[in-house]
Amino acid sequence: MSLAAAIKMRGWCPGSLRPMPSGDGLLARVRPWCGAFSLDEARGLADLAERLGNGHIDFTRRANLQIRGVREERVGDLQAALAAFGLLDRDAQIEAGRNIMVGPLAGIDPVERLDVRPIARTLVRLLASDAALHDLPSKFAFLVDGGGRVSIAGERADVSLRAAGSAIAVGIGAEWIGSTSLDNAARVAVEAARAFLGIARNCNRVRELPADRFAELRSAMLAMLRPFDGGLPSVSTRPLGVLALGAEKVAVGIAAPFGRIEAQQLHRLVAILDKAGASDIRLSPWRTLYVEARDRVTACMLVEAADAIGLVVDDANPILRIDACPGAPACRSSSVDTRDLAVLLARRKFDRTIHISGCAKGCARSEPAELVLVGEHGRYGVVRNGTARSMPERIVDAGQARALLDV
Ligand code: SF4
Repeated sequence: MSLAAAIKMRGWCPGSLRPMPSGDGLLARVRPWCGAFSLDEARGLADLAERLGNGHIDFTRRANLQIRGVREERVGDLQAALAAFGLLDRDAQIEAGRNIMVGPLAGIDPVERLDVRPIARTLVRLLASDAALHDLPSKFAFLVDGGGRVSIAGERADVSLRAAGSAIAVGIGAEWIGSTSLDNAARVAVEAARAFLGIARNCNRVRELPADRFAELRSAMLAMLRPFDGGLPSVSTRPLGVLALGAEKVAVGIAAPFGRIEAQQLHRLVAILDKAGASDIRLSPWRTLYVEARDRVTACMLVEAADAIGLVVDDANPILRIDACPGAPACRSSSVDTRDLAVLLARRKFDRTIHISGCAKGCARSEPAELVLVGEHGRYGVVRNGTARSMPERIVDAGQARALLDV
């Protein structure tokens, strides 16, 4: 498919095999295998962002990484390099369907019920091997979570699997509907995707299904599940800094402001982690990276070093209460510099959640925020307790937007 044709497609997501045109060049999304990049892969990605892109790297809300500003004539070089790292799928459709978020402390956290990575790997294999599933919309997402200290069970996904006791709870859309055995979990997720495809028509996500079709999907799935009496958390835990996990296991959580890390920063972070004996970087849907540390002293050193290179390691940092999409000039849909305003606002004292969106699409946040500023013809629509799609109460310029924090 040509890039021009790709742009015309509705509801598609960028990949490495099908990068998406944006205001600052092509955007190539790289999906980690099983939620983590090895340090070699992370070093290689920083290098590619520097050499073939504009040096900006974004972490996404689907726990992927995006290289920005790739020039069209360098796409072949990028794909060849990703293939050499083993990070390229067989074709663009298989890549688009590999939307699997994995609990970021899988296999590390002693409190998790079980290491769910084998389920995720089986799911990757099943999705790739069944051509019928290659028609899944690229927004259709899976979630695999082992429980424990850092759970992603509250994140939005179309099919969710979560360790619960000795079984695996199964969710479709926002509802946990039953459970299955560990051995059967990946196959059940694939069956849910297959059943969705049978009734989806123009819907890209389970939550877009009308009630009668959701009921149809639900009853098809119930036939292959055991009863499940609920009791799972609905909100993800998102700790930063040093995480004492118990049983002498320690990890650190490191966030990048607005999910953006520069290639040079990533190079420096990888060098620090390498020296500390870390093996990989785990990605989360809230765009915080998690790393296992050898011990508490090492974890404290990592937190200090990450802070020194401009990353966020403190839950109380006000920048974490602001979501801001890339905005102009990076995104063609925006007429405002969202990140510039976000940085200015982050210097102020406030305790509200703020969403600054370049346009009404609201890519950076789907949940409501207390204050939402939505770009429109170079100014901002003001929404209170709503989303980027809500009707603004008035339109202000950037200076007036900053003053809104005073009232
Ligand atoms: S919200 Fe609009 S301006 Fe911001 S990244 Fe998404 S499409 Fe672009």
